[in-house]
Amino acid sequence: MDAMRTMVLVAPGRPLAERERPVPVPAPGEVLVHVSACGVCRTDLHLVDGELPDPLLPVVPGHEVVGRILAVGPGVERWRVGERVGIPWLASACGHCRDCANAHENLCESARFTGYTRDGGFATHALADARYVLPLPDRYDDVHAAPLLCAGLIGYRAYATAGAGAALGLYGFGAAAHLIAQLAIAEGRDVYAFTRPGDAAAQALARGLGVAWAGGSDEPSPAPLDAAILFAPVGGLVPVALGATRPGGTVVCAGIHMSDIPSFPYRLLWRERTLRSVANLTRADGEGFMAVASRVALDVHVTAYALGRANEALDDLRAGRVAGAAVLTMPAD
Ligand SMILES: [Zn+2]
Ligand SMILES: [Zn+2]
Repeated sequence: MDAMRTMVLVAPGRPLAERERPVPVPAPGEVLVHVSACGVCRTDLHLVDGELPDPLLPVVPGHEVVGRILAVGPGVERWRVGERVGIPWLASACGHCRDCANAHENLCESARFTGYTRDGGFATHALADARYVLPLPDRYDDVHAAPLLCAGLIGYRAYATAGAGAALGLYGFGAAAHLIAQLAIAEGRDVYAFTRPGDAAAQALARGLGVAWAGGSDEPSPAPLDAAILFAPVGGLVPVALGATRPGGTVVCAGIHMSDIPSFPYRLLWRERTLRSVANLTRADGEGFMAVASRVALDVHVTAYALGRANEALDDLRAGRVAGAAVLTMPAD
């Protein structure tokens, strides 16, 4: 157990490479986690495709990390060896800048991010700052808990930002949308699922979860929306979503990267529509969402891949071949 297996991004644009590394020792304030599952998120795809600036290189991607604590560093009192935890995207923040002081640690200029500016969970072992690790609801096993850590959690931040209107549009129906749709339906809202044009599998998944309507993003909305969340990284959908949203409604862009937004007539924004983005997460979002996921039984749809098939999982995600969430599972040692 002194070597760990990893899938590493050496250079953007290249497939991940399988590498063995020595199992690290946790520094003061850190925990060492024996990883059992790690979700594959669209952000990992943006990282691999070179669409995110200044990654750590080489880097182990993966920021939906589930495992058990194998060792704690000096000074860690919150966690014990053997406890199950999740490591989310926000790996650490400075704690004293203006944003950190105002409950916006998600915007901290000195924040570090799991699987981007510090190593993540496409590996059998991962280190994390003990203060940013989350407890996970017992009702989900490891593979089904993994997508909660970003798809669920950042989806939840976007959902909270979208406001309380009854008719909610979701553009892009993948890992995040399939969780947030269930939450919205449990809260009595009508969900309109806009998938990639012609994506029958995503539309079937959406209908099975009880959405009011599912169709392609090239189809008109069957009803005016009170709010819309864009999970698809497609800037061309911004004017489409604004056009489908009522006066006073909000359109939230939830992804870390999006293709350019085309110009659009002012009348789409006029009458107090709001267009905004959501960036990263705070620890409060994490704790808030895990409490919700503990109360509401979310039906998490996963496609599991062994760690060594990480490139295949990324390719499937890129091609839209994954219904729900892709999750890597780690070999037993
Ligand atoms: Zn800060
Ligand atoms: Zn993510």
